[in-house]
Amino acid sequence: MNKILAFNWKMNPENKEKVLELLTNVQIALNQVSTNEIIILAPDIYLGLIDNFKQEKSIYFDLGVQDISSQEKGAYTGQISASMVESMNYIYTLIGHSETRIYQKYTLEDISLKFGLSLQYNLNPIICLGYQEDKTIQEIDYDLLKQELIFIFEKNKSLINNQRIIIAYEPIWAIGTGVTPNANIIETVTIYIKRVLVEILGISLAQKIEILYGGSVNSSNIKNFKYIQELDGFLIGGASVIPEEIPKLTQEISDI
Ligand code: PEP
Repeated sequence: MNKILAFNWKMNPENKEKVLELLTNVQIALNQVSTNEIIILAPDIYLGLIDNFKQEKSIYFDLGVQDISSQEKGAYTGQISASMVESMNYIYTLIGHSETRIYQKYTLEDISLKFGLSLQYNLNPIICLGYQEDKTIQEIDYDLLKQELIFIFEKNKSLINNQRIIIAYEPIWAIGTGVTPNANIIETVTIYIKRVLVEILGISLAQKIEILYGGSVNSSNIKNFKYIQELDGFLIGGASVIPEEIPKLTQEISDI
């Protein structure tokens, strides 16, 4: 079974030499195992460099951005639009990552607008769920998850066509902390999200939506989660910018 590895590089690495070092490790990983699917969500400024590397080395992985504007076009200094991403063929975009909710103060309304634009411009959105204001509460708030799914999907469901849609369940207290929920909880939440999606979208659209888990996954603990059947893969931050972790991560999930 193939699991997706989506790498959220955040504001890393700090220079282009280190980008090339990470990419060399992606190349090693892809040469070792042919079945894994890697999506790299890189800082925009490195996308051209990464594309050149892919072409020079004739390797294949998907590439995307970490955010798009909630506005279609106009005077929004520093932002990039869904149309720009589509025209450069980067295809994937993260939407609603908790760090953008905290630092850019994005609201659910912004996230819903971004989702709509990503669908309109044929991007494949990776929507992050699991944000809550209080980082210390580890209980799963199923009502909040449901409300978010309804808010984001109800308004936009008529725009869903053939785009690949991915949801990343990322409990905020697990991001960058080294603490993770156990596999049973991840499985239960994954099944719950799938059930709510069926209620909102109907079975045929809902069953195409893939679910990732994100939050402190690395090459040592991924073995605890890799056999969760309902789960389609992982969104990985910190470990994805440690060069030697990349081949280890792909190796770990190659025997599922
Ligand atoms: C993330 O930022 O999406 C993430 C999962 O980070 P980390 O793996 O570092 O917890």
